[in-house]
Amino acid sequence: MSSKSTKLNHQLKPRTDPQERRTRITKEPPSRSIEELLHELQVHQIELKMQNEELQRARDDLEASHNRYLDLYEFAPVGYLTLTVEGEIIETNLTAAALVGVERCNLINRHFSSLISPKDGDRWHLLLKKLLDCEGEQNNLELRLKRGDSYFHARLDCLPAITGDHTPVLRITLTDISESKHAEEELRIAAAAFEAQEGIMITNADNMILRVNRAFTEITGYSTEELIGQTPRIFKSGQHDSAFYAEMWDCINRTGSWQGEIWDQRKNGEIYPKRLTITAVKDSDGNVTHYVGSHTDISTRKASEEEIKQLAYYDPLTALPNRRLLLDRLQQALATSTRSRKYGALLFLDLDNFKSLNDHLGHDMGDILLQQVAQRLMDCVREGDTVSRQGGDEFVIMLEELSENIEEAAVKAKTIGEKIIASLNQAYQLSKHEYRSTPSIGITLFIDHRHEINTLLKRADIAMYGAKAAGRNTLRFFDQDMQEAVTARAALEADLRFALMKNQFKLYFQRQVHHNGQIIGAEMLLRWKHPKRGIVLPHEFIPLAEEIGLIIPIGQWMLEAACAQLKRWESHAQTRDLQLAVNVSARQFHQPDFTEQVRAMLNKFAIKADRLKLEFTESLLFDDIDDTIAKMKTLKELGVSFSIDDFGTGYSSLACLAQLPFDQLKIDQSFVSNIGIKPADTLIVQTIIGMADNLGMDIIAEGIETEEQRAFLELHGCHAFQGNLIGMAMPLAEFERFLGD
Ligand code: C2E
Ligand code: MG
Ligand code: MG
Repeated sequence: MSSKSTKLNHQLKPRTDPQERRTRITKEPPSRSIEELLHELQVHQIELKMQNEELQRARDDLEASHNRYLDLYEFAPVGYLTLTVEGEIIETNLTAAALVGVERCNLINRHFSSLISPKDGDRWHLLLKKLLDCEGEQNNLELRLKRGDSYFHARLDCLPAITGDHTPVLRITLTDISESKHAEEELRIAAAAFEAQEGIMITNADNMILRVNRAFTEITGYSTEELIGQTPRIFKSGQHDSAFYAEMWDCINRTGSWQGEIWDQRKNGEIYPKRLTITAVKDSDGNVTHYVGSHTDISTRKASEEEIKQLAYYDPLTALPNRRLLLDRLQQALATSTRSRKYGALLFLDLDNFKSLNDHLGHDMGDILLQQVAQRLMDCVREGDTVSRQGGDEFVIMLEELSENIEEAAVKAKTIGEKIIASLNQAYQLSKHEYRSTPSIGITLFIDHRHEINTLLKRADIAMYGAKAAGRNTLRFFDQDMQEAVTARAALEADLRFALMKNQFKLYFQRQVHHNGQIIGAEMLLRWKHPKRGIVLPHEFIPLAEEIGLIIPIGQWMLEAACAQLKRWESHAQTRDLQLAVNVSARQFHQPDFTEQVRAMLNKFAIKADRLKLEFTESLLFDDIDDTIAKMKTLKELGVSFSIDDFGTGYSSLACLAQLPFDQLKIDQSFVSNIGIKPADTLIVQTIIGMADNLGMDIIAEGIETEEQRAFLELHGCHAFQGNLIGMAMPLAEFERFLGD
């Protein structure tokens, strides 16, 4: 600036020095005339004016130049700051003030560090120190500066300088680099995204492969080198026709992208499904420069989708449709029947005694049985019909389009039901066991939407219970009475669950006597004192308790009561030798730890084991003969006595009976009541007595109601009796009172 002004001064210097001129005027000899002098003065005046004008022009030029400089300085694209060596702001341009969002007047005298993010404060101080240490060297730094409530990325170029008055200062240019930082970040993200799980392929506008990521090479099996320069045609699987690809490109050309599932081929020839998204990349003029394809291998997802579908709609054990699929199909069947006006039928099938198979032979055998049942059911129906498994041993068969006539439809459903029963009655080979099973089937007919799906299923279920109640291995159609019976049964079941807890079970004792009238002991019989119904007899609730498993706690309770009673009787001479017979149901007996339960009870009450007599029915024995033999032997070793209850009603083979350590055989009351009425039964009674003799067993007859029956039995060698003639089943107090008589 100073050199510039010198130059300017030089240019503006008047041609004659005014001082010199003045001297010249005063020293001029007087010989010159006034006119001459006046003229010269005028000339000087003009000259002066010219010089003045020239000076003014120079000043204007200078000012313009200064303003230009100021504009350039103030509005430069970068911020300028001058700081003291301590970092205090002395001077800034407007750009700098705008960048940090503070008015210039508020920046002056402020410490520059107050504008710096606390995170970068240390780096700034370090730089400051460095600048001062190595004087004169330029340095730069990127840091975050405050702007309002946020920060922006800035680049500082710092130069230590000395001012005209020899003061050392720092000159700083400040550049906002947020945008380039942002772009850098985007690039980093893009690079990371490119190496993502998804396979990415970039082609040019001519569909030539330019870049692929690692995931892409993994999916396709090709290396990057093998792919670059190729076209995606090498992935074609031949699974899609040219129309498919034409449509795909048409979509990309119209909308800029396409996505969908496509079958491609890997390098090893394997064809696999993938999800593909193709996006066209365009330049600012809208011309396609690249295509980016992102590929996700969905072969595993496809496979699991299939698996999920299978799991969601099919029973894994039998591969039959499950309940959900049945409901779907039933819904459709109702719609079809609405149009065709033809009845369909639902057959609700439950295997009889399936639980005992599971309990005795184990769940594996149960599973094999269910699979074989499933197969037989499939063989019994037409192709369009549905056989489904509901869970457990329950199956529902849906027969469609049977007939427009309700009777005819019923007959057809019955025929198929009977065919099913016949088929399921055939022996099953369960591994090395030959097994027999029977079903109970409930049937309900359906047409259009007059009944809800759930109602239909409920009806078939109710009918199935009707079949069970009718003795099993049979079928029943739904009717209203049946529904009422089922409702009542459900109520009974609900109450039964609380009966034990509410102490509603009562023990009754029925005398057993010797032919001379001497009391041998008693059979303990259960009564349920229902708060509303009064006394409920065992045949109304024992089968139910058996079915829902409640028989187990009830049986344990009975056993404990019997042992406790025997203990009390031990202390009286009159009762010391009495035997107590307890009925044991199949489910109870076949519990794995049944013998342990008995042993624990005997120990708990420390009673003589032979006072306790367990009554088993024939059917219980042969459910699982090996288990029965083992358990009875163990119990026999403990000293417990056994009686075969209801003898004659089952199908015991003598060979089997001989293997079992029975002490007593009890002739069923049905034979007793027919003594003298039905000759065949009279004969059976005689045979049974003879048989017991041969097997070395005691014999007792139950249900004796008449003297005639008693006399007949005694005559034929049965010397122990139980029945109303001798004494009804009665509560303990009454029973004991009788003993005292
Ligand atoms: P059960 O073991 O054969 O018992 C004999 C049944 O015949 C008893 O019926 C008894 O009251 C009845 N009875 C006895 N004498 C006569 C008679 O002269 N005429 C007639 N008509 N009946 C007579 P209850 O008490 O109703 O028991 C029926 C069945 O319930 C029993 O048959 C037994 O199988 C079962 N039961 C009873 N209590 C229990 C128990 O605590 N546990 C188990 N598991 N079953 C039990
Ligand atoms: Mg009995
Ligand atoms: Mg009996």
